[in-house]
Amino acid sequence: MPKSSEFGSQLSIGSNSSKSSNKSESVKVIVRCRPMSDKEVKDGHKQIIDMYCDRGVIQIHKPNVSEEEVPKSFTFDAVYDWNSNQNDLYEEIFRPLVDSVLEGFNGTVFAYGQTGTGKTYTMEGDPQRPGVIPNSFEQIFNCIARSQNQQYLVRSSYLEIYQEEIRDLLAKDQSVRFELKERPDIGVYVKDLSSFVCKSIKEIEHVMTCGHQNRSVGATNMNEHSSRSHAIFIITIEHTEEGIDGQNHIRVGKLNLVDLAGSERQAKTGTVGQRQKEAIKINLSLSALGNVISSLVDGKSTHIPYRDSKLTRLLQDSLGGNAKTVMVANIGPASYNYEETLTTLRYANRAKNIKNNPRVNEDPKDALLKEFQSEIVRLKQQLLDRRKQKENRLSNGINIEEQVIHESKEIQPIDTEAVEKLQTKIKAMESKLLVGGKNIVDHTNEQQIQLEIKNKELIEQKKRERQMLQKLEEQEESTFEYRETFTSLQQEVEIKRRKLKKLVSKLQSVKTEIMDVQESNARERRELEQMQNDLMKELKLKYIIIDNFIPIEEKNKLLSHIVFDEEEDDWKIKKSCNNTDGSYLCKRPNSCFAFRYPTSEFARMAQEVGSGLRYRCENIMDCELELSSRMTKDYTAPRLSPRVRAALENALKREDDIDVEISSIPAPTSRKKGKKKETNGNVLRPLTAFKISNRNESRNLSERPDTAGANQSYPTARGLIRK
Ligand code: ADP
Ligand code: MG
Repeated sequence: MPKSSEFGSQLSIGSNSSKSSNKSESVKVIVRCRPMSDKEVKDGHKQIIDMYCDRGVIQIHKPNVSEEEVPKSFTFDAVYDWNSNQNDLYEEIFRPLVDSVLEGFNGTVFAYGQTGTGKTYTMEGDPQRPGVIPNSFEQIFNCIARSQNQQYLVRSSYLEIYQEEIRDLLAKDQSVRFELKERPDIGVYVKDLSSFVCKSIKEIEHVMTCGHQNRSVGATNMNEHSSRSHAIFIITIEHTEEGIDGQNHIRVGKLNLVDLAGSERQAKTGTVGQRQKEAIKINLSLSALGNVISSLVDGKSTHIPYRDSKLTRLLQDSLGGNAKTVMVANIGPASYNYEETLTTLRYANRAKNIKNNPRVNEDPKDALLKEFQSEIVRLKQQLLDRRKQKENRLSNGINIEEQVIHESKEIQPIDTEAVEKLQTKIKAMESKLLVGGKNIVDHTNEQQIQLEIKNKELIEQKKRERQMLQKLEEQEESTFEYRETFTSLQQEVEIKRRKLKKLVSKLQSVKTEIMDVQESNARERRELEQMQNDLMKELKLKYIIIDNFIPIEEKNKLLSHIVFDEEEDDWKIKKSCNNTDGSYLCKRPNSCFAFRYPTSEFARMAQEVGSGLRYRCENIMDCELELSSRMTKDYTAPRLSPRVRAALENALKREDDIDVEISSIPAPTSRKKGKKKETNGNVLRPLTAFKISNRNESRNLSERPDTAGANQSYPTARGLIRK
């Protein structure tokens, strides 16, 4: 597969070099509700969603409240219920967007929603029910096939953002993390991201499959991984277009197909250290997306926090920029998802107020088509030159056979080989530039084109109907009063009462909505405060370590050498302090000559100044001496029966005074030094506390010949008892 980065192209999202401009348009927001799953049906979950697709209205009922409570209602550009199919959605929503990309606009599709609500189903679908991505492949290559006198170049990239790290899903080495860069001429782009030139549906499908496989590599739990990472499939379509000046211009449209991470709340608090950092990072891009949306629509913000996350930076143009954007909010219909579904609907409701200024990108600096065209021209010129050289040689009277014989034998093979090489190269490059009706085999006949046009008209009409219905409903309320003619005072009262009731219920629902939002904001704030406390704790610990264990000079030196790199969102060592390889902060001190042992210049100077830095210990924290826990116990005397006590006391007497009937005590069988032998329980174990004073005697005794025979049970000198 040809790789476009081989030609020095870097992918940029959002080019600045747009020329023609159109009027502003809102981000299109649609809601899609999946059907109840078999499990949900089996578990007896209630459905809490009502959808009115003809008016683009969705209602959500709070579970376990009285029937009288008014459901919350939202209106969107379009809503799709559980009966909708992939094709309806594509024809009505995504086909017009892809058409715009083919014209040179940037387009973005976000699939937003809780895990398990159908984001991946909407974006990718399955072989029987293809989603947006495979359907767009078909649309793009069919459109190219039908084009006339236009050259197209299609390339694709696939990346993933996980815990604020960018992974190129098409790269060979999946361990490499990629950086975002910004250039005034081409905007924000992923440095060194690979992009592959695709000549057919098959090729672009292959790119997608490769990316898919790489996505699961390294993920221990694919479901969990995909619910926590954002996957972006990017298709860049460049084409030539004759402008009003009669010149050929290059237009570039980029389609970003984004399967976002699950929007469900991640537990941020209660986790510590690395896990806490992970939890914060996982949803950072998603909460940054929410913040960007809020700032864009509140009308007061002067600063839009695009830089807060990789996702918002990369897709800056899709939110308030020059792209056409569609957001699909996916929800589930069951009651146990109430909170998450409501959050998704509120999120989507805010997003529909974002205004974009879509513009066609014309002749951007990073157009690959231009590079390809000039490369082909260059190669063709080379080929022409070679042919001319050959012709010149021939016209100078050198016969080919002579040439073979007289000139260096290698000239002709090299010539032909080089020409052949050039020709194949030109062919290969030309094959990448798609021209309608030439490269693409799958032609669509006239009838099909007509059918598509009719379809488009039908969809347009449906859209207009929906918009009219929505408008009608709005007007109905305001003109309600004027339409009524009152025949009597009583009737007037009755009608006004009805109207008042309606308004009161509306007020009530607005009030509950405000309370709900306040409550969820307060919850969010508490969580953030908790998180801030945890982070403060960690920070304090770091300060203690720095203040007490790092010499102040070292700290200051380091501080003067580092700067915060906004681009990479991290602290970096200043360029001037870096070695060329970026390896070492400062120059290593030289060693001193003629010292008895290796001493650095720095240490010698320190010695002379008398600063004695080497063994400084005053920075060590004032810690109490840490005592290890005790391993021994106090002696407690054993509880002895009076008889045993008497025997013991006896033992403490001098050997001569002991009154023991030796003959009745059995002699020890082999006594090994230091090894105590277990006996029948009628003998006391040696008592070391008493042993010391009698050690000599006891040894003497054990060395004595066995006088008492087999009956002696223990050394008599110790005064131990008999049975
Ligand atoms: P997500 O990507 O949001 O986590 P998935 O796309 O994986 O969710 O969908 C979860 C399950 O629900 C899948 O089995 C999918 O086939 C099914 N599903 C989602 N949306 C629909 C729909 N509109 N119609 C039928 N099945 C759907
Ligand atoms: Mg998914």
